[in-house]
Amino acid sequence: MSGSTARLQAIEAVTSYKPTSQPLNFSDVSLGEFFGTNVFSRAVMKARLPKPVYQSVLSTMESGSVLDPSVADVVASAMKDWAIEKGATHYAHVFYPLTGSTAEKHDSFLTPDGQGGAVAEFAGKTLIQGEPDASSFPNGGIRATFEARGYTAWDVTSPAYILENPNGTALCIPTAFVSWTGEALDKKTPLLRSTQALNKEAQRILRLFGHEDIENVVSFAGAEQEYFLIDRHFYFSRPDLLATGRTLFGAPPPKGQEFDDHYFGAIPERVLACMLDCERELFKLGVPVKTRHNEVAPGQYEVAPVFEQANVATDHQQLTMVMLRRVAEKHGMTCLLHEKPFAGVNGSGKHVNFSLGNATQGNLLDPGDTPHANAQFLVFCAAMVRAVHKYAGLLRAVVASAGNDHRLGANEAPPAILSIFLGEQLADVFAQIAKDGFSRTAKERVTLVVGVDTLPELPKDAGDRNRTSPFAFTGNRFEFRAVGSNQSIAGPMVAINTIVAESLDYIATELEAAVAHDPSELHTAIQKVLREIVAEHGSIIFNGDGYSAAWHEEAEKRGLPNLRATVDALPVLANEDVIALFEKYDVLSRRETLSRQEVYLEQYCLSVGVEARTTVEMAKTIVLPAAIRYQGELAATCASLKSLGSVFDTTVLDTTTGLVTEMQGRIAALEAATVSDPFGETTLQHAQYCYDEILPAMAAVRETADALEGIVADDLWPLATYQEMLFIK
Ligand code: ADP
Ligand code: MG
Repeated sequence: MSGSTARLQAIEAVTSYKPTSQPLNFSDVSLGEFFGTNVFSRAVMKARLPKPVYQSVLSTMESGSVLDPSVADVVASAMKDWAIEKGATHYAHVFYPLTGSTAEKHDSFLTPDGQGGAVAEFAGKTLIQGEPDASSFPNGGIRATFEARGYTAWDVTSPAYILENPNGTALCIPTAFVSWTGEALDKKTPLLRSTQALNKEAQRILRLFGHEDIENVVSFAGAEQEYFLIDRHFYFSRPDLLATGRTLFGAPPPKGQEFDDHYFGAIPERVLACMLDCERELFKLGVPVKTRHNEVAPGQYEVAPVFEQANVATDHQQLTMVMLRRVAEKHGMTCLLHEKPFAGVNGSGKHVNFSLGNATQGNLLDPGDTPHANAQFLVFCAAMVRAVHKYAGLLRAVVASAGNDHRLGANEAPPAILSIFLGEQLADVFAQIAKDGFSRTAKERVTLVVGVDTLPELPKDAGDRNRTSPFAFTGNRFEFRAVGSNQSIAGPMVAINTIVAESLDYIATELEAAVAHDPSELHTAIQKVLREIVAEHGSIIFNGDGYSAAWHEEAEKRGLPNLRATVDALPVLANEDVIALFEKYDVLSRRETLSRQEVYLEQYCLSVGVEARTTVEMAKTIVLPAAIRYQGELAATCASLKSLGSVFDTTVLDTTTGLVTEMQGRIAALEAATVSDPFGETTLQHAQYCYDEILPAMAAVRETADALEGIVADDLWPLATYQEMLFIK
């Protein structure tokens, strides 16, 4: 197909779309009955494993201790039988490489028996460890290709599951992916390590508060996922969407999102069918998706699960993205997870809700009812404040990507400046703590004495939200809003776990020293630590409008970093304090941290490179030819009229000619920029070049192309328009 044919056929196909599958029937089998049916859950294990084996697995899951190899064979065999009963023919170690995607290598259960037959086999050692040929996954220099060996190791804490596929169902085993030297090559390994660090430091605080028999403290995550759905025909008619996940061309539609009429509006039928189907598939996999609604932009939606333990939540989040893409296809649509598929229309983020706690002490970010409980809450809350202030740059770095750059800093997502929203009451509490109240009499006391006074009631109401804050306290958790829709939440979770562990460590060390001689000193010591934290780190607290110019000025005065783009943010990973932080808590070695920086910079350069080449190609072979055809039509008309002695108003022809000339110049400039790309320099220099030279040259080509879209005759325009993609369903 060429020219406008592709566009017209796409519209035709979309408007005559008929669902291919029967609507789901929820009256025969309720949604609840689906939940976890494809999960090798504790209940399944309990039913299928001998008691001692089950106990051994359970204690590994709960304590994070090493799995007893003698039980692995028994577990593997039970897992295989269960999977085969469910129709599985293959098993796969699933791992999470640094690209942020999900990778799996499938192996058949069948092994030749040497007598012309085959037997289904799955040994303990195959369950525990795999060896994918992983030389093509990015490693940032940790592994040379000749030593490409990478190992996957079963993560007992995240349940195995069955992924159904029309052409082969597989048993999937979540794993960590490490090099033969034991260095992390993936997103899961540091997440597991950071969870341990957090547990250790949080327990020290809990012990100071007199708790005994403390269960492991874990972090919890609930990730709200935003995404776009557009018809697949449009998707395939646009090489930019296909190659880069976002539109590199497209004038703003006459009607955009200005009416906000899409937000929480009725969900279109076809979209609803897709959502229901996706939810059912996720339910089978034990992913507790709960809410769904339209988002602000036309064609944009959101799905959020009930929060879970961070490691499991992260795996489930990856599954959610896989499933959204897959089920959308089934319904004739494409799910766009890019942070900014459409310029001028709201982008997509992933709000990561974070809390920490355990079964014995509950949610440690939940304000309590008693002064004692409140003191404990304030300690954990202050640790968050200190952590975010001290490592604001790191939090910005872990959400840096070419896609997310289009979102952060534009007035729709949180600004690139990290700050904390605490809400009025809680901010006031910290302000009071900051003042020295001991010199005053109780009567005129304006200071809140920690451990004596109760907190004012803090609103848990979702209405009291500051949408412009990148890191907001929402009653019993913090919501990190700067994460991109296409990103794994592992990176942000690793960072939050580790920086909070560091702050808890700091506070615990102070308090332990204070109570060493006199345990009754605890509350005075807490008051002192909290006051110091507010004095030193309180500047991160900001309850106002994060989009305002005034805040940008104010933030600068406060010395808060404003790392606008990926190239500004990723260098933070090489800062000595960041390297030391990850080393101290055994989350990432220096080499591992630096390798990550390298991989993310590489990814950035690759993304921009693909976008630049796609822009050149589309501009040359799709946009420019359409413009020239139109120019030809106008010129022919002009010539004919002149030969008849009539006048022809050449305004449109002149504008078109001007734009065609400009377009050619701009394409040439972009091509030149791509060619003179300074390969051989450091990856950071290369990334900086992409940011300084290539992106602006791309934007220039687009500007001219979008102007042409507004002038070229519609029947000649080859690309599906924003209006069509966002509104025709
Ligand atoms: P909103 O859009 O108002 O932020 P949603 O219901 O869309 O609310 O999403 C809130 C998310 O926060 C859900 O994923 C929810 O499970 C999660 N969440 C709720 N409580 C906690 C908690 N204590 N820790 C972590 N996540 C939580
Ligand atoms: Mg939400």
